[in-house]
Amino acid sequence: MVVFFDFPVNKIPILKVAVNVPLSREFDYLPVSDNTGPLPGTRVIVPFGRRRHVGLVMGHIERSELPLSKIRRCVSALDETALLSADDLWLIRFTSDYYHHPIGEVVAAALPALMRQGKVLFPTLTVMAISDAGMTADIEALSKRAPRQAELLELLRDAGGNGAEADSLTEQMPTWRRAANALLEKGLIARFDARAEVPETASLVAGRPGPKLTEEQDKALQDIRGRSGFTAFLLDGVTGSGKTEVYLQLMTDVLASDRQILILVPEIGLTPQLVSRLRDRLGIEPAVLHSGLSDTERLSAWRAAQQGTAKLVVGTRSAVFTPMPHLGLIVVDEEHDQSFKQQEGLRYSARDLAIARAKHLDIPVILGSATPTLESLQHCRSGNYVHIVLAQRAGGAKPPLIRLVDLSRALTSDGLSEPLVEAIDETLRTAGQALVFLNRRGFAPTLICSSCAHIAECSRCDSRMTVHASDRSLRCHHCGSSSPLDERCSQCGAAVKPLGEGTERLEEALCRRFPGHRIKRIDSDSTQRKGAMAEALALAEQGGADILVGTQMLSKGHHFPKLTLVGIVNADQGLFGADFRSSERLAQSIIQVAGRAGRESRQGQVIIQTAFPDHPFWQRLIDGGYRQVADDALAEREQSRWPPFTRLALIRSAAHKQRDAHELLDIAKRRIEAQRTDYLRVLGPVNAPMARKAGRYRAQLLLQSSDRKSLHAALKDLRVALEVEPAARRVRWSIDVDPIELF
Ligand code: ADP
Ligand code: ZN
Repeated sequence: MVVFFDFPVNKIPILKVAVNVPLSREFDYLPVSDNTGPLPGTRVIVPFGRRRHVGLVMGHIERSELPLSKIRRCVSALDETALLSADDLWLIRFTSDYYHHPIGEVVAAALPALMRQGKVLFPTLTVMAISDAGMTADIEALSKRAPRQAELLELLRDAGGNGAEADSLTEQMPTWRRAANALLEKGLIARFDARAEVPETASLVAGRPGPKLTEEQDKALQDIRGRSGFTAFLLDGVTGSGKTEVYLQLMTDVLASDRQILILVPEIGLTPQLVSRLRDRLGIEPAVLHSGLSDTERLSAWRAAQQGTAKLVVGTRSAVFTPMPHLGLIVVDEEHDQSFKQQEGLRYSARDLAIARAKHLDIPVILGSATPTLESLQHCRSGNYVHIVLAQRAGGAKPPLIRLVDLSRALTSDGLSEPLVEAIDETLRTAGQALVFLNRRGFAPTLICSSCAHIAECSRCDSRMTVHASDRSLRCHHCGSSSPLDERCSQCGAAVKPLGEGTERLEEALCRRFPGHRIKRIDSDSTQRKGAMAEALALAEQGGADILVGTQMLSKGHHFPKLTLVGIVNADQGLFGADFRSSERLAQSIIQVAGRAGRESRQGQVIIQTAFPDHPFWQRLIDGGYRQVADDALAEREQSRWPPFTRLALIRSAAHKQRDAHELLDIAKRRIEAQRTDYLRVLGPVNAPMARKAGRYRAQLLLQSSDRKSLHAALKDLRVALEVEPAARRVRWSIDVDPIELF
């Protein structure tokens, strides 16, 4: 491990420590003793007010601004070697500076929970192993008197000399502990402690070779290989064009030079399908980091990356912080995906941080997408990124045909138009698979009274309650509150009826319409149970379902070989959206879900239901594809000075009283305007689009600038001011740099 500083003889070093509190500063502490200074990147326990906290040593200084007598001493040092390298600490500082977020909270986001809590990096494991006597004991005789003991003995015999670790025993035999006590007493087994070691990434087998690359893929590969050091590449390839094949080839290069690879994927893009493809082709087991892991699992994957033994790390957003001492390549797959931006607390973009990190380490970073963000496309135009295009589907699959159905003319029931139903029917008759897409879960988005037209609303939010049929409830999708579904109106007592459709209703309608066919709904309600998502996807892939009904979840990255028809039930929400990103989002979501159709030999078909078939958006999309919509949108944004042509930051506030939420933003506005910065526009404060959520009133202030430096200077000053502002105590507030949700 690297030693960063030698302490000058006879000088007491002062530690700069990041503590997990909502204050921007680093704090000064004296080391535990004057001649052993904890290294940067190690954890210390520090007194903070009347409590103790786990802090991370960010660096040392020789002189503090505080008098020596005021500086408190660390209670203890937790690590002998650095958990985070100088490069990792750089990323943490960069994140804190760029997003104007307290550094201690950035550290907390970067470390696994167990590290945050001060646990040791290498926990001691309890291992049980068979003894010599146990090897020769008569299991059969034992099994008559004590079947559990016999079972455990057999398990440990199979485990051999290294024994089995307690956690894995619990998995195989939840009640093993009682049996173990009896066996210990008899001397048939033994217990010992072991350090959790990091297994070397086993080279399973030589990876399987991939298909012969197409000319386009080959050219892309040569272009990327042709540059060394930091370059950001946008691999802009239509769905099914074989982007993943290109990544795989590059990964082989990087592995051959014994460096590590980090792959970032969207939250729901981290599928068993991707992991097994990586394992298969590269011949190594990827370390996987996502939100579904237990704390121990997460730590063990993190540790393998941090020790350099995990050569390949695949993870969602927060994996961007994973320490990797030999990092040689970062891939951000589906870079347009909104889940790369954290929407609460530390509001970072993992994609943008990936680029910053690659630049700092002077390594390549590849952003892949069939529907790149306008930000990335603009970076290509201005020469910051290298644009690599894959225009053809690989393996001979043709792009799907897109057809509009006019909802104002077509006969519809339960949201399904006749032409869509006929197309599904045709698909089923020819043994294809259909996907019906609607980005709205539940049975219906509205419950209305048939007599007085009263609509069921959430009492804590400015929103309607969604009808859920499966458990007969009304649920608010914004705050999570729910109530039983009543058949009578709460105001007048007349009968109520659900209005509009969600995925549950579509599923029900399809079951009625296509009896005898296997219909599978995949949304966040149907996949709550652990493992349910993987099961559903496997079923869909193997053709075990004829019709899939689903939300956004189904639109990304999946490869369903039999799928030939995609029906988009309601595309109109995005056509008139208030957000300047609406048309970009709509085009992305349609192209992504359309990309699921006809990925193999049969031509795919996409049917889009819309009440506005004459809207110019459709013609642009159908004639020119995503590229055309993106070009149009970029031109519009340049004219109206929206990102990527300007930069934004949003200050949000929420409070129990509307006045308080606004007051803080008024103070913020005055503060910013007092600085008289040219190039900076302040818009608001205004109520947030959903003015009340979970019982709190919300307001926002938008800062817009064509100059990054002025914007950041203003934010820096504001952050410090708001941290000590008395009016801020009644308010929850946050700074969102490069926000992706404005309205
Ligand atoms: P993307 O990542 O762009 O969606 P994939 O890499 O997943 O595309 O490829 C889509 C499909 O095409 C996969 O089934 C893949 O195995 C296949 N494929 C990719 N490249 C080739 C190639 N050069 N020759 C034949 N099949 C290919
Ligand atoms: Zn609510």
